Parts: sequence; structure tokens; C-alpha cells
Amino acid sequence: MILEEVNSCPICQGKQFTTLHTCKDYTSSGETFQVLQCKSCSFALTSPRPIESESGKYYQSRQYISHQTTATSAFDRIYLAARSFTLNWKYNLIRPYTRGSLLDVGCGTGAFLHYCQKKGIHVTGVEPSDARLSISGITTYKTLKEVPAQPFTVITLWHVLEHIYPLHETIHHLTRHLAENGTIFIAVPNRLSLDAKTYANTWAAWDVPRHIWHFSEENMKDLIHRCGLQVKEIIPMKLDALYVSLLSERYLGRSKTPAFRAIRGMYQGLRSNLSARKNGQYSSLIYRITR
Ligand SMILES: [Zn+2]
Ligand SMILES: [Zn+2]
Repeated sequence: MILEEVNSCPICQGKQFTTLHTCKDYTSSGETFQVLQCKSCSFALTSPRPIESESGKYYQSRQYISHQTTATSAFDRIYLAARSFTLNWKYNLIRPYTRGSLLDVGCGTGAFLHYCQKKGIHVTGVEPSDARLSISGITTYKTLKEVPAQPFTVITLWHVLEHIYPLHETIHHLTRHLAENGTIFIAVPNRLSLDAKTYANTWAAWDVPRHIWHFSEENMKDLIHRCGLQVKEIIPMKLDALYVSLLSERYLGRSKTPAFRAIRGMYQGLRSNLSARKNGQYSSLIYRITR
């Protein structure tokens, strides 16, 4: 495996970093990766990281189920049930802004696109992995670059930007495809949430080395403003605190039985949401962005 170091912060071009965490890849390789933090703007990133052309290998795992549609364990079944609830929730969130056309970047097997298509929205997807090949009846592209120059009123990236190597280039591509009064929704984990602090380096949303960027609210606003866009609203994803905490308990492995792990995970998830009611630091945040 060829690794590369990130020498300069993609947000502020800072060159000095401190080590924030040493995290393990629990779902695929079992390897260890460092999460570094930029000394000048606090942005966090995985470094060294796999080079982009080899990063696909780290997605090949039985446990990486976010792109699959069949469930094996009880945990996976809960995950898929929550996902169907979330599909409807996301649809209701974007509906006031769609006015007809949607581009979903990192669409996986296309669950969200199919859902929106049934509701009468004209949908297009981008997905670099082979998951794309299982999508039928929807126009999809392997990369953003291949999408024809047509304006979309809504562009969504649900837990995708933290995986994408060319950060600025991607946001500029999104801007090119955005209708004049269009809206971009970007959902990413929040490394300043209480569940992130509680689980420290076993927090499931570090998800190294698939997650190469680790945002705080400040980091995202900084990036978006530097790209000439505006953050209009920040919306919490409360279910993520539970999902991420359950997964983190599994990685932590301190409970002997799955039932104890589930109780502990639920407790930490609820605790995170409760504390976020005061400071807004939910486990995952959605940024509603416009020109
Ligand atoms: Zn920086
Ligand atoms: Zn992710």
C-alpha cells in the first residue's frame, strides 16, 4: 500500500500540524492511521493516507454496509430500518428547495435517488464505486467532471465530502452545477460532538482511512466561505449520535455482550444529543449552502 503525507492544510494552507488521535481502521484493514490537526485553522485530516488511486481497497469489506441493501446481523437490520426513516427525513428537508432537479453526489446504490424519483423529482447521481452499476432507471456518472453542464436546484452530499480527495476542486464543480438560486446540502460528522469526545480515538466517525477530512462547524464555514459560498443553516442529524455510538461501542469492545453494548451505545448517543441541545455540537451536521 502506498501512503502519502498531507503537507499543507487544504483550507488555510498551513504547514504545521499536531497529532490529534491515532485511530484504527476497524472495518477493513485493521491498520492504524493518524489524525492530524492544522495549527492555524484547527482543521483535522488523516495523514499519512492511502494515495487516491489505491483508496478503493479500503472500501472492500463485509462490514462496510452503507452501500449494501441486505442485512445480516441485528445491528445491520436496525441500521437499515433507520436508513429508511432517514430517507424520508432527508427528502422532507430538501423538498422546499428542489423545484424539480436533484444531483446526489456519492449516491451509493441510489436509495435516496430512487426515493426522490418516486416523489417526482428529476434525479441524477454521481458514484465512483461499483455500487453505481446496480442502479437502474437513473442517470449516473462515475465522477462529477462527467456530469453535463446543466444546473441543478439541489445538490446533496450525504456523508461524502469527508471521503473526497480534491476538496476545493469538488466544491468548485458543485458551484458550476448549481442553479442560480440553488442549494447545496453537505452532511459530515462533527468531531466536536460529545460522542466524539467520549469515544476519543475509537469514535466510529473517524472511519480512517476512508475519512480523510474531519470537520468542525468552524472548519466547514471556513472552507465554504473561501469557496465564495454561504452557509445559510446548520441542521442536526440526531439519529447519527445513536448510530455512531453503537458502532463505537462495538469497536471499543469493552462490553461482553451485544445487549450491554447496545445499552451503552444508546445511552452515549442520547447523552450526546442532550448536550448538543445546549451547544449545537450534534454528532453529524448538515450544512445548507447557497451562493
Ligand atoms: Zn489550516
Ligand atoms: Zn463517511
